[in-house]
Amino acid sequence: MRRLLRVNLSSSVITKEDIPRKVAEAYVGGRGFCAKYLYDEVRPGIDPLGPENKLLLVTGPLAGTSAQAFSKWIAAAKSPLTDTFSRSSGGGDFGAWLKWAGFELIIIEGRAAQPVYIYITDGKYEIRDAAYIWGKTTSETQRLLKKEHGTKARVVCVGPAAEKLVRYAPIISGRRAAGRGGMGTVMASKNLKAIVIESDRNESLADPVEFSKLVRQQVKAMKAGLGYGVFKDYGTVQGLDYFYPVFGSIPMKNYRFAELEGWAEKIGMWPYSQITEKHTGCYSCALKCGKVRKISSGLYAGVSTEGPQFEAAWVFSGPTGCTDLDATLIANHLCCELGLDVISTGNSIGFAYELFEKGILTTKDTDGLVLNYGDPEPMLKLVEKIARREGIGDILAEGVKRAASHIGRGAEQYAMHVKGLEMPGYDPRARKAMGMNWALSNMGANHNYGWPQQEIGDPKPRLLDPVADEGQGDVIKYNHDSTAALEFGIACIFPSHHLQFYGLELMGKMLAAALGVPKLGSEDYLMYVGEKIYNLERCFNIREGFSRKDDTLPKRMFTEPLRGGVRDGEMIRKPDTIIDEYYDARGWDRNGIPTKETLGRLGLEEIEGDIAGFRR
Ligand code: SF4
Repeated sequence: MRRLLRVNLSSSVITKEDIPRKVAEAYVGGRGFCAKYLYDEVRPGIDPLGPENKLLLVTGPLAGTSAQAFSKWIAAAKSPLTDTFSRSSGGGDFGAWLKWAGFELIIIEGRAAQPVYIYITDGKYEIRDAAYIWGKTTSETQRLLKKEHGTKARVVCVGPAAEKLVRYAPIISGRRAAGRGGMGTVMASKNLKAIVIESDRNESLADPVEFSKLVRQQVKAMKAGLGYGVFKDYGTVQGLDYFYPVFGSIPMKNYRFAELEGWAEKIGMWPYSQITEKHTGCYSCALKCGKVRKISSGLYAGVSTEGPQFEAAWVFSGPTGCTDLDATLIANHLCCELGLDVISTGNSIGFAYELFEKGILTTKDTDGLVLNYGDPEPMLKLVEKIARREGIGDILAEGVKRAASHIGRGAEQYAMHVKGLEMPGYDPRARKAMGMNWALSNMGANHNYGWPQQEIGDPKPRLLDPVADEGQGDVIKYNHDSTAALEFGIACIFPSHHLQFYGLELMGKMLAAALGVPKLGSEDYLMYVGEKIYNLERCFNIREGFSRKDDTLPKRMFTEPLRGGVRDGEMIRKPDTIIDEYYDARGWDRNGIPTKETLGRLGLEEIEGDIAGFRR
């Protein structure tokens, strides 16, 4: 029997519930449970930062087993940044510990009257006073909680930025973040500082012999995989050396350029490898993509810190035109300590730099900071100002969409976001399936929501030309559905999708052996459930008023050619054609609403009444 823990912080009542067999069969686990419970339990129109929002923390059926890179966890809620369905996955050990404690899902509802944390151990569940850790950084919070509960405890927590309700605060575990969409902000809005789990390793598998055989197969596939050694040695920053020269897709100076003088020599896998001290990773993952590095200058000189990963390395250099390696380490460190999503933080700062260049912001607006391209000092100050909501930081803490509307004076055209979520380190004009993946995604600009590996050489279902103006719609759908399916597992997206060491087929066999449900061994069945989940998330958004009008990119992508790099001159030329292709492949109408037949085919007929009125 699979279980969830429901914690009502308003009433202080904690209940243990069985996940109904019907739900477990229909949604498998992980992100499937997020979609089902959020759709059923979060009413449309509620304030994401009010007590009616619910925060879900979920792990997958394979967490805590010997399977490689399957112990991730997901946080899901209605996002305070986008007002859409949102999910963000985190690493470290917490997923394994949650599973060993006997749960795949925690549902947190209501709001505590005072700061609290939740403590779970040996069948006991308590809500405890968190006054002594409120206001502390994420590392200090974890240190204090481990001091109290011992080294066998694992923690997820929020930092000071979440407590200030910065709209893009993550939930942190160890040095890993469930970063996107403000899941940490939702947690802090409930006055919940942390969740602590103490548990011992245990494993319950329907067919342990078959499962062990499949894990050996998985390890063999990883070791034989193209790029295994490079990824293990250099981590995700190795992508910088590939996407900058080969794809011309690394955005510079707020998505205007694809080149920056001196950047490739100073920000790349080789410079980072020179200062890497240690490799670290999530529970049961030989890849250990986390890299511990030492800061060599400034206030934090001598501090060893994990990171930056690809996105942080880019977002704390390209958007501000900086080529200072140390500044990327410091900014990433501050984000982890204070609890800020690196992509949204760096983008908000890059947005401010461009507004300063255009004269829309002056030193009167920036508390005296001069935001000159190439100078990392104001960038580091802005990270702290955002976390404290101080001066200009208070405006940038709202995210670029809300900040632009607050600033006015034409600032909207420089706000680079999709549905309110700041964009990752790929220029949509240089990788069009990537860009349209964001435009069509349920949570806005998230690269890992349907990463188009077909632009890089994966022939399944077919190869894509990264700069083709049309013809990607069905493949974007495939990526959205297959990612939703991988997130039942919960599979880490790197080995299973980006690097293609193994995929859904092997994950399905592992799920079948672990849960004793043979039909999970069918890739077609997993894709079917992935499609169902994707549609349910879409329907969550439809009830909130989202439709075709929101499936778009910033105007700059359609009107300004990309400048520099191998994709110089590229633009998104036929967005509506790709959107129509996608809707047709999905069985949605021209407003992006699933038809009655589509809902019936996916077993979602019970929600027909909720969305029928939005069709056209
Ligand atoms: S590849 Fe990296 S993020 Fe993925 S499970 Fe392994 S260590 Fe964690």
